[in-house]
Amino acid sequence: PAGLYIVATPIGNLSDISQRALEVLAGVDHIACEDTRVTGKLLTAKLIKKPLSSYHEHNGARERPKLLERIDAGERIALVSDAGTPLISDPGFKLVAEAQDAGLYVTAIPGPCAAIAALSLAGLPTDRFLFMGFPPNKSGARQSWFTQEAKTHASLVFYESTRRLPDCLADAAESLGGDRFVAVCRELTKKFEEVKRGTLAELAAAYAEDGAPKGECVVVIGPPAHVEEAGSGSDMDTEHLLAAALK
Ligand code: SAM
Repeated sequence: PAGLYIVATPIGNLSDISQRALEVLAGVDHIACEDTRVTGKLLTAKLIKKPLSSYHEHNGARERPKLLERIDAGERIALVSDAGTPLISDPGFKLVAEAQDAGLYVTAIPGPCAAIAALSLAGLPTDRFLFMGFPPNKSGARQSWFTQEAKTHASLVFYESTRRLPDCLADAAESLGGDRFVAVCRELTKKFEEVKRGTLAELAAAYAEDGAPKGECVVVIGPPAHVEEAGSGSDMDTEHLLAAALK
């Protein structure tokens, strides 16, 4: 039917595109994407020919009403990002919100997502996790960004450029403590896929020594060691409870 189709695309390995994603992309009237060259390559590889237009942060306000009007007039429009799942550190939130508010048909074709693939491989708790997007670029802001979540009882998942990874891990160790476990998941689904695990102190030291790696990465940091008593209903951790008891 006419509507907005949010389609996940591969994060490296082109075989990861789903059967339904291919069918939807082949069936829609139009595809809105971040970069028409990037999506053009994917479509060429899958032998799909479709009119493309770019939709991103800088033209969203102008493009949104046009796309919504076309759907309202009966068209099927797909939204894809350069890689992975749209809206996850990628454009689309306002488009989906406005389409939903307008009562249009909106559906998701789920698929690859670097954050979820990283959680699958990190070997760290996945029962509770906080997806944090990208950290700030500057060290001071990055340290407070980590400090704000220092007591959050969840694994922390975020995207970071490999160029900034050594400095970022040093700041994480500083703000969260060097003994938290971490996994750096790099080049997921690609030829040189790699997962490096250790404590923040260990990996910060290793990357300080070896320098920035190549490619793309997701960082997963395990939860703090001292977890709240189950069902205690208080946000005191074991250390605080012990300190209080010993007073
Ligand atoms: N929406 C995308 C998704 O669902 O994965 C994420 C888009 S975000 C702008 C791009 C970031 O995702 C990269 O900087 C990197 O941190 C991470 N990423 C994307 N592909 C990756 C891969 N194959 N391996 C590791 N990290 C990846």
